[in-house]
Amino acid sequence: MNQTWQDILIDQSRNISIPFQGWNYAYNYDTKYFSNINKKRYKKNYEYQSEPKYLKNELLELETLNQNTSLNITRKNNPKIAIIGCGPIGMAASLWLRKAYPNLDISIYEKRINLKNNKMKPFTRRWLTFLKLDLLEPILDHKDILILRKIGLKNYLGVDIRNLEYILLRAINKKGINICPLTKDILQAKMIIDASGGKFIRHTQSEIKEKFFINRVIPKNINNYGQKLSKNKKFNQIEIVNYGSIIKPFYNGLPLQIPYLKINYLPPKIKQDFIYFSNKLNNDYGIYYWDGVMRDDLNHSLLFLSLFQDEFNSIDDQINSPIRLDQAWNNDRFKSNISDRLYTIFEWLLSKLEKEKMCYLEPLFLWEPFFCLRKKMYINGDIKYLNIGDSHYIGNPKVGNGLSNHLQELKNVFSEATFSDIDI
Ligand SMILES: Cc1cc2nc3c(=O)[nH]c(=O)nc-3n(C[C@H](O)[C@H](O)[C@H](O)COP(=O)(O)OP(=O)(O)OC[C@H]3O[C@@H](n4cnc5c(N)ncnc54)[C@H](O)[C@@H]3O)c2cc1C
Repeated sequence: MNQTWQDILIDQSRNISIPFQGWNYAYNYDTKYFSNINKKRYKKNYEYQSEPKYLKNELLELETLNQNTSLNITRKNNPKIAIIGCGPIGMAASLWLRKAYPNLDISIYEKRINLKNNKMKPFTRRWLTFLKLDLLEPILDHKDILILRKIGLKNYLGVDIRNLEYILLRAINKKGINICPLTKDILQAKMIIDASGGKFIRHTQSEIKEKFFINRVIPKNINNYGQKLSKNKKFNQIEIVNYGSIIKPFYNGLPLQIPYLKINYLPPKIKQDFIYFSNKLNNDYGIYYWDGVMRDDLNHSLLFLSLFQDEFNSIDDQINSPIRLDQAWNNDRFKSNISDRLYTIFEWLLSKLEKEKMCYLEPLFLWEPFFCLRKKMYINGDIKYLNIGDSHYIGNPKVGNGLSNHLQELKNVFSEATFSDIDI
């Protein structure tokens, strides 16, 4: 039977297997770092103060296009479809919808808008992506595709999430899709698509409806990123708590949580040495050293370090925006607060890096995954509601099972579905 795109999205949401891959990874490799941090934190800013100097060729070409891409806002009443959130998934969904329904009235509503100058704040996050180009090719502008083909390896897109967001924005501008400040207008829409990264609707998590266990799946092969398998039998089952509309993996009676430190712009050539040093000499396994998928002369790597709770508490308030490692190291307070483990790792990295190719510490991140079921649902009486992207589930950035699968889902749905105007 032919299904509408909304039915397919709802049907697929019963499948827990993709978010489970991220939870399972944590149970296989990060059990030492399970934590329970619950404190008010400073607001974090992901903007880099200056461009890493060695960006060149096509990456600079993209940067010039980014600087000239309009971030202007329109004000639009009565959209038929209101997409909440102008992140990668909200933008990609708007483009797939526009392709399926060329005349449909779609507006994206974003909260990162400066109402004084009517402009959206620029995209800032720079985490590397691991995305097949064909996930996005049908919805992007041809000029950007040509540049991306020169940058990525093996048909991967390669570039970081900031470049991806600007590329999607250029496609949106070209298709005339409006970006608007969040106002009560959305309440006149026929449908709301929540792509807010899980921020638009807060689901109640007081009443537990059900608890169940899923067996941990142990990988057959060794891990290429430097992590060591947890052998502890205590972690052979993952406890899952269902609150009705939101499901969370638990550990020791609390939601699963791991603090991560992300180090950006590392050179790929030191990966094997780092893994050897970190595992054999430093003897702690919270590392994940991942080489990007860009042409050799443009490529860089990122390092995810899982942190112990004390390590998190000692530096969290000192990294409020990306900072060069050598600058952080010059700060006595930073240096004296870090654990012996971090001290050894940072000292090793500094001994290997050239000053003009320095890596950056990004603000710490508390990974606390959830899975939010989709169902036939209405808000404010009769507005249809659907959640996509990180509003559907939070993947594990260490295995990239978020963004890539969110985009894959959109591509599958919009390739398989039947489209009729009465669907909306
Ligand atoms: C620290 C960290 C590191 C990560 N590292 C990687 C990585 O290395 N590689 C990778 O591929 N993925 C990584 N991810 C995951 C990736 O960032 C997400 O999967 C992706 O951003 C999800 O896209 P989204 O569009 O669903 O949500 P988001 O990117 O979160 O976008 C949501 C948008 O909605 C807006 N918004 C929020 N609330 C509202 C509201 N109430 N009203 C209107 N607008 C609103 C926000 O301002 C934002 O623009 C990482 C995530 C985190 C947190």
